[in-house]
Amino acid sequence: MRNEGIGSWPARRARKTPHRTALIHQRTDGHRSFSYADLHDRSTRLAHVLHARGVRRGDRVAHLGPNHPSFLETLFASGLLGAVFVPLNTRLAMPEIAYQLADSGARILIHHPSVHGTTDNAPGTTLTTALDLLEVGPDYEAALAAAPAATIDEPVSPDDVCIIMYTSGTTGRPKGAMLTHANLVWNAVNVLIDQDLAADERALVSAPLFHTAGLNMLTLPVLLKGGTCVLVESFDPDSTFDLVEEHRITFMFGVPTMYDLMARHPRWPTADLSTMRHLSCGGAPVPTGLIETYQRRGLTFQQGYGMTEAAPGTLFLAAEHSVAKAGTAGVPHFFSDVAVVGPDGEPVPVGELGEVQVRGPHVMPGYWGLPAESAEAFRDGWFRTGDMARVDADGFVSIVDRLKDMIISGGENIYPAEVEDALLAHPDVVECAVIGVGDARWGEVPRAVVVVRDDAKAEPEEILASLTGRLAKYKIPKSLVVAAELPRTASGKLVKPRVRALYGTQDS
Ligand code: ATP
Ligand code: MG
Repeated sequence: MRNEGIGSWPARRARKTPHRTALIHQRTDGHRSFSYADLHDRSTRLAHVLHARGVRRGDRVAHLGPNHPSFLETLFASGLLGAVFVPLNTRLAMPEIAYQLADSGARILIHHPSVHGTTDNAPGTTLTTALDLLEVGPDYEAALAAAPAATIDEPVSPDDVCIIMYTSGTTGRPKGAMLTHANLVWNAVNVLIDQDLAADERALVSAPLFHTAGLNMLTLPVLLKGGTCVLVESFDPDSTFDLVEEHRITFMFGVPTMYDLMARHPRWPTADLSTMRHLSCGGAPVPTGLIETYQRRGLTFQQGYGMTEAAPGTLFLAAEHSVAKAGTAGVPHFFSDVAVVGPDGEPVPVGELGEVQVRGPHVMPGYWGLPAESAEAFRDGWFRTGDMARVDADGFVSIVDRLKDMIISGGENIYPAEVEDALLAHPDVVECAVIGVGDARWGEVPRAVVVVRDDAKAEPEEILASLTGRLAKYKIPKSLVVAAELPRTASGKLVKPRVRALYGTQDS
């Protein structure tokens, strides 16, 4: 094949294992299965549809919808033409979606009807009229049925851009990370090596595909190996227990919030999770208590650390080290290098804090349309993550927090994640965020914003008092605000700038 990119994967799989189930699309009213031959046929037909609508090499093809076969078909069809796939986050507001469509210069948008208002030009949005639209459902199916099934084999090189994937926007406006075919392949290879995935893997894909983890840490490695992905539109702990049993799920990826919801669910003690081989968790700090809750059931997290720009797998804690090194994010993936460096770019000594830098064949060449930000993001070929960490004597890396979220109080650095971890140990605290607020004497002091259990008994002062002796005095929040909920991104990450805007200025 002349196509050396991931657009060729369905054809390569169909040549080897045409009858194996590639995708199971789970809906409330049942499910539909797609073999690798089906996936190959549908992606090829979609590529013909896109070509007929003018899509050529390098053009951007956007997708907006929940986890659905059309997401992967659009990715593979774009890859067959050498076009660039742009997955959009369904939980963004319309102006934000319009921004990403305009920023990426998408030529066509494949959208799912469940995403309300996609085609309305809502006031204040600029959904460009130059954009061609194709709705998933009867129109999409009719277009595939009418399209030729003739093989497409355009030359596509591993270094061509495959995806523009926007970062989560946790610290600012999302940036479009350009990921090449090679970036995605090397990441999948790293996952296959380090997680030791088997061909009979059955993955539950309830994490959103439009985020890097759901796509790259779970779905693509499983499809490369010839396993089965069960696509679920959204995560819900109750149905997760049903699906794991029904499909005998062996592999799941989730962010800590998802695993926490499962552990707090009434079915947790009785649910059958015995088929599970790989329980990966990443994307945000994993609270120590959560690791222990799963460990008590004999379920071991495989913790990962990464970012959209690195496609994303960077550090990985394999099951064999997960107890002894619990709380760390492990060591770099096989084909990845990580350095924890000081402001001068030199590695810091064991145990000291520094910024994480990553280098390897899975790291993006740069951000789409942002040459200045791209240049700034790299130093001597290393990508600067903006995350702070320390390395132990065995080389295991513990992620501490984002540099941007650090609080400086009277000259002391406070990393909120450490304080949040201690607060979460209090039985009444369900969620929390620690932010810095202005203080005449110390410059900044930490403030806790917490969501408490409905039947919480402790007063705010008692929650804060529980930290005495566990944290240095300057790290203990000087005030505590009780909130009904905390602002989170679609993948469940705390949006700290929003927490600061909501709770950082009021007197408590
Ligand atoms: P933006 O870059 O737009 O502000 P974002 O950084 O949240 O958003 P992602 O690429 O989705 O976008 O997330 C990567 C970040 O998530 C990492 O830089 C890190 O801060 C955090 N992260 C990922 N995995 C872990 C982990 N295991 N422990 C702690 N933090 C993690
Ligand atoms: Mg980031």
